[in-house]
Amino acid sequence: MEIGRRHFFKLSGALAASSLAGTGTQAHASKKTEPPGDTYGCLVDTTLCVGCRKCEQACNERHHLPDPNESFEELSVLENLRRPDVSSYTVVNKYYPKNIGTLIWRKRPTFVKFQCMHCNDPSCASACITGALSKQPDGPVVYNVSKCIGCRYCMVACPFQIPAYEYHNALTPSVRKCTFCASYIKEGKLPACVQVCPREVMTFGKKSDLLRLARWKMKNNPGKYVDHIYGEHEVGGTTWLYIASDPFETIGFPKLGESAPPRLTEAIQHGLFQYMAAPIGLYVVLGGIMWLTGFYRNREESTDEDSSGKGGNA
Ligand code: SF4
Ligand code: SF4
Ligand code: SF4
Repeated sequence: MEIGRRHFFKLSGALAASSLAGTGTQAHASKKTEPPGDTYGCLVDTTLCVGCRKCEQACNERHHLPDPNESFEELSVLENLRRPDVSSYTVVNKYYPKNIGTLIWRKRPTFVKFQCMHCNDPSCASACITGALSKQPDGPVVYNVSKCIGCRYCMVACPFQIPAYEYHNALTPSVRKCTFCASYIKEGKLPACVQVCPREVMTFGKKSDLLRLARWKMKNNPGKYVDHIYGEHEVGGTTWLYIASDPFETIGFPKLGESAPPRLTEAIQHGLFQYMAAPIGLYVVLGGIMWLTGFYRNREESTDEDSSGKGGNA
């Protein structure tokens, strides 16, 4: 049976309804948990993207992020490679085809939407000593601003260089990154960028279904895709998956191994605790910093889904 993308999505929606029940938040990220099994994810088919930036705009509006310097209709910004930052949780980049010898093998550029990969076993969460970042059982890696002390270990640990730091006030540290629209997912809705994309570049669903869809596309379109699903194995697997016509290293993806970096970050942390710091004293200091940041921030404990640049989110 042929699996069209729309049909596939309906199937995923049915699965979503049945399996969202019973998902809850992880109690504390610094407590080691096994990576979740078949979570939600997104398959990005880069061959369909036309670089319209509507996903960037939808993300900006959904999270009440600052207005960009250039309007979202301005496509000349695609001429420079960009990275997600505190005011853009996702960016689209444009890659021109590479020459192979004297042969330019394809004229059309490739557009790639990029954001947090929501790793299965996220090194940002593992590196965070206060549990401010955590992997949710349904897939998103979320941030709890009230637990953050601004150490920025997460920024160093991330293999994709995603967490961005808001420097405006030293006493209200805030790390910014794509939330996978976690509250939308819990409500059974699609992430804002997925909803808005006019080309259906992104397919939301259970990862096992997304991997089957990716393989189906590859098998039924010989020569169109490189034989690689980025994120299937990289750093232990990621929740966002990509397929492309180009080798991934030519369109901005780092070449990474299959094992999850958290093993390394944990080893560093354990070394610190064992040899360099008396844990009780350190926790007293951290607790003081957290109290101070909480005092100045004057916020109830909340996730980044509920706190954003211009105010609350729906
Ligand atoms: S909205 Fe869709 S087609 Fe437009 S840039 Fe984003 S992913 Fe590409
Ligand atoms: S891409 Fe980076 S920030 Fe996102 S979950 Fe993975 S390690 Fe964390
Ligand atoms: S999933 Fe949500 S937070 Fe992430 S890029 Fe899409 S709209 Fe932005």
